[in-house]
Amino acid sequence: MLKATEGRERMERLDRADPVVHGAVLAEEARQKAQLEMIASENFVSPAVREALGTVFTHKYAEGLPGRRYYGGCEFADQVEDLARSRATQLFHAAHANVQPHSGAQANMAAYFAFLKPGDRILGMNLSHGGHLTHGSPVNFSGRLFEVSAYGVRGTDGRIDYDQVRDTALKVRPRLIVTGASAYPRTIDFEKFGAIAREVGAFHLADLAHIAGLVAGGHHPSPVPHADVVSTTTHKTLRGPRGGLLLCREKHAGTIDRMVFPFIQGGPLMHVIASKAVALGEALSPGFRDYGRRVVENARALADQVMARGVQLVSGGTDNHLILVDLRDRALTGKDAEQALERAGITVNKNTVPGERRSPFVTSGLRIGTPALTTRGMGPAEMKTIADWIADILDRPADESLIGRIRDRAGDLCAAFPLFGDQSFPIRR
Ligand SMILES: *Cc1c(COP(=O)(O)O)cnc(C)c1O
Repeated sequence: MLKATEGRERMERLDRADPVVHGAVLAEEARQKAQLEMIASENFVSPAVREALGTVFTHKYAEGLPGRRYYGGCEFADQVEDLARSRATQLFHAAHANVQPHSGAQANMAAYFAFLKPGDRILGMNLSHGGHLTHGSPVNFSGRLFEVSAYGVRGTDGRIDYDQVRDTALKVRPRLIVTGASAYPRTIDFEKFGAIAREVGAFHLADLAHIAGLVAGGHHPSPVPHADVVSTTTHKTLRGPRGGLLLCREKHAGTIDRMVFPFIQGGPLMHVIASKAVALGEALSPGFRDYGRRVVENARALADQVMARGVQLVSGGTDNHLILVDLRDRALTGKDAEQALERAGITVNKNTVPGERRSPFVTSGLRIGTPALTTRGMGPAEMKTIADWIADILDRPADESLIGRIRDRAGDLCAAFPLFGDQSFPIRR
């Protein structure tokens, strides 16, 4: 475990220069250490990944690509960016990688503009069925600039209906089909989507944001052979710094690179790219494959136990790193459930469910994920315990003495699995 003094020492200068920010950082660190982090899109990075973020690379302007920069002094920037690119292509068996997108949303924007003009039609997953804002929501650029049609999941089993996807694609003839999701607990058949895209003459963008780490470890089929371009975040199951990444076929490499810079971005965040290189190196290690396996095992253990306790899940279970609790059979809303769990030291997020009747600020669901707790070293036994706590609270959300008891036990569990336990982070040599 990292000694308290080590953490302090690293930030002595911040403390002197800006005690308010320093205090907020320490408080956030304490919060993260003491709570059960089950937001499906969050994770904890290794100390090495975090160290790379705080380096002098933040000073460097490096517009352009390795070997073709608009600024001098890019020798070492080239070195880390080349390393990040080659590790990304090796990890995902892709022909080309661009590691500059500042975020998953930016990666998607670049991918869209590589193939689309404003007004073109896209087909993406309905937000309330598990899609992402950047897949065509009216409050996002994607819904504003493009004509959007949506596919969703079947009401009966909560799974993507590929026949409906194909029928819709044949009818609306999209120029691009976007696959991938933020709240879909089941395996996505990228091969089927690829075949539908080919049949209707559409480009296929596969957004791996949530499951990139599972794909990298071989725990979810890869879209790389079936998509024209693959986008992802680097900070969810991939367990790297916050950021985005694009992978594509060689024939699209030049277009993709030009859409990231200069079309939508300026200078790359070289400190983040250095950190991405470290994270991608970690992801190439056998230990990371094992991590992905444990993430999925843990989600299944969590699903099995909450269901045994009478909690409904969308699709009746999970194949990946998350479960989607369906509260439509209860008076309790997603918002109130989220708050009750937070009071008990369990951090999750409210989420819309397929067929949602409540507003996105209230919702009838909860999204719960295992990537972060798996990084802390927890396993199926801890998931079973946590599942019981969650079920108890969903049954008695106003029982503050129950919530207080669970908060104490959650704190003990966190103390038993320290956040910076080194064993959780295999570093490739
Ligand atoms: C998280 C997510 C994104 C956006 O990533 P940001 O880094 O938050 O911009 C895009 N697509 C999907 C499917 C996501 O889950």
